[in-house]
Amino acid sequence: MSHSIGILFIVATPIGNRTDISARALDTLRTVSLVAAEDTRNSGALLRHYGIDTPLTALHDHNERSAAPALIQKLQSGLSVALVSDAGTPGISDPGALLVDAALNAGITVTPIPGPSAVTTLMSACGFLQNSFLFVGFLPAKASARAHELLSLKTQTATLVFYEAPHRIVECLSAFGEAFGLERRLVIGRELTKVFETVHRCTLGEALLWIEEDPNHQRGEFVLAIEGAPPQEAPDVSTHDVLLQDLLEKLSVSDAVRLAVKITGENRSKLYARALELTPNKNDN
Ligand code: SAM
Repeated sequence: MSHSIGILFIVATPIGNRTDISARALDTLRTVSLVAAEDTRNSGALLRHYGIDTPLTALHDHNERSAAPALIQKLQSGLSVALVSDAGTPGISDPGALLVDAALNAGITVTPIPGPSAVTTLMSACGFLQNSFLFVGFLPAKASARAHELLSLKTQTATLVFYEAPHRIVECLSAFGEAFGLERRLVIGRELTKVFETVHRCTLGEALLWIEEDPNHQRGEFVLAIEGAPPQEAPDVSTHDVLLQDLLEKLSVSDAVRLAVKITGENRSKLYARALELTPNKNDN
């Protein structure tokens, strides 16, 4: 008798407020055969709160590699498994990628059940108009490695999002100031969805004063968003060289420039001058 193989569900759970869990997530946790959890006590408490008694097994950073094969076997034998982490979305600065990778390699269906994550929660409330953001997550703990990574992000125009532990928040904010200057805007998301939730927007210079003025400001869980670098100057016309060269192969200089202006919206005389530079020997006919 043939049996179908199970599904691996990746289930997002609350980042604080226990009611931030979807009906679909609860249904899934209730109906799977097994819940693989980063911390079985923590997830056990959540499951009990919702009257769910699905068995739990541990899957965390330290055993993911050794525990994954047994879970894959269970999935292949037809059991469905839900993966949860301590908070938010598995795989986002949390274990999970290794198991998902093994499941996909084994041809197992992986179904994400979306829900909270500290990164998207803060991005929805930061009010920066920039559309793109770069999720950096946790920076290295060592000061030199952290400074190095921040320096590499200095000209990044996307909003930058970081996770940080409370015992490193002060040094982290001063490292931001050193790397990006004191004028850039920052949003501090502290204890999101919890009793002492704070969303505080200020400049990097003001952030240092704010964090130091009250010891309570340094407590809890933090997600930080920093406005990206201002965009570079409008692209130089030489960035249209490829297009101009293509057009100049088939058209006269004036026809090529006319078309290039239409396509790029760039200034005509600039493109004309550049077209002449690119074709010193071409007659305009
Ligand atoms: N998987 C989680 C997610 O989807 O956001 C992140 C897990 S990571 C191990 C934990 C870090 O996320 C915390 O140290 C903190 O930086 C951030 N975080 C989690 N919950 C938070 C909350 N309620 N408020 C602010 N930051 C939070």
